[in-house]
Amino acid sequence: MKSKYADLKLNVDINKIKEASICIKKGKIVLFPTETVYGIGANALEKKAVDKIFKAKGRASDNPLIVHICNLEMLNSLVEEVGEIEKKLINKFWPGPLTIIFNRKECVPNNVTAGLNTVGIRMPSNKIANKLIELANLPIAAPSANISGRPSGTKIEDIIEELDGKVDYILDSGMVDIGVESTVIRVIKNKVHILRPGKITVQDIEDLGINVIIEKQIMEECSSKEKVMSPGMKYRHYAPNTKCLLVYSEDENKMIEEINKQIENIGNVLVLGRTSHLDKYNTNNKLDMGESLEDISKNIFTLLRKVDKYKVSLVIIEGVKKEGLGLAIMNRLIRACEHNYIEIN
Ligand code: AMP
Ligand code: MG
Repeated sequence: MKSKYADLKLNVDINKIKEASICIKKGKIVLFPTETVYGIGANALEKKAVDKIFKAKGRASDNPLIVHICNLEMLNSLVEEVGEIEKKLINKFWPGPLTIIFNRKECVPNNVTAGLNTVGIRMPSNKIANKLIELANLPIAAPSANISGRPSGTKIEDIIEELDGKVDYILDSGMVDIGVESTVIRVIKNKVHILRPGKITVQDIEDLGINVIIEKQIMEECSSKEKVMSPGMKYRHYAPNTKCLLVYSEDENKMIEEINKQIENIGNVLVLGRTSHLDKYNTNNKLDMGESLEDISKNIFTLLRKVDKYKVSLVIIEGVKKEGLGLAIMNRLIRACEHNYIEIN
């Protein structure tokens, strides 16, 4: 391995996290776990360090990074004002998988925010992430750990090939908990706008008595020239090289029937389906997504990384109901399939 590596899977060695935190202090970049996906982190206050993240990922400079913090003091040092609704959300969901967009202070470098006057901030609940930020005593800017366009890294084995040697330190704690990236929201006129769906759902926020608006771009195609509230949405993301088709119906028999029809027409197909549906498909090429939405969210990026090995003409992926965590799963899957989507009523 070219990057420095620490295996924290069985034993969380605080000295290794300390070494990684020293890397952050020195302006180097560290691959570390969070509860959502792995991140590539740098000192969020140092422009040059943040540049190294963009370089390692090949990330477009107009795609802003999320800043990870471990206490509210850090938040106040980065943002102009924390409104009442934001305070409610923080009380309920931090530390956790919710990124909130705030108006930023001058100290946040331009490359972190891609030139915007806002900054996305989150307090991760993952103990290693939290400790790393605390020991570095710095806010850490960190996008997902993957080469831009590829599925986000949910375990080190999936991303080691593309990132080894490109980061200074790797903290490996095994498989992450959630598997899809954080919910990204912005409060506008007392309403929460969902810019990217995640584990914190529309219902979770509405339960606090707050009105929620789901940005339509979450499930739609947007052109690279279009002005979008969440710049990450306009990029090709998660898509394997093999063509993928997303199929969904509320009636699961109709969904299975449609997928079998596609298999019959095309022949050389790989199906990604729920455990309980797999034996209903007339092909030998099948991958198990798991049964619950939590399973699917955990497995989806690893599965998307596997499909190109099958050398098939088409990958067919079962959709889920766009509700709760299902909205986050469908947002990622529709991108993986480049909007190649069939929904049957
Ligand atoms: P990643 O860290 O790779 O999951 O990407 C972070 C995503 O968060 C970006 O692609 C944006 O869509 C979103 N984001 C980060 N900062 C902002 C911001 N200031 N305004 C709107 N969206 C943001
Ligand atoms: Mg990403």
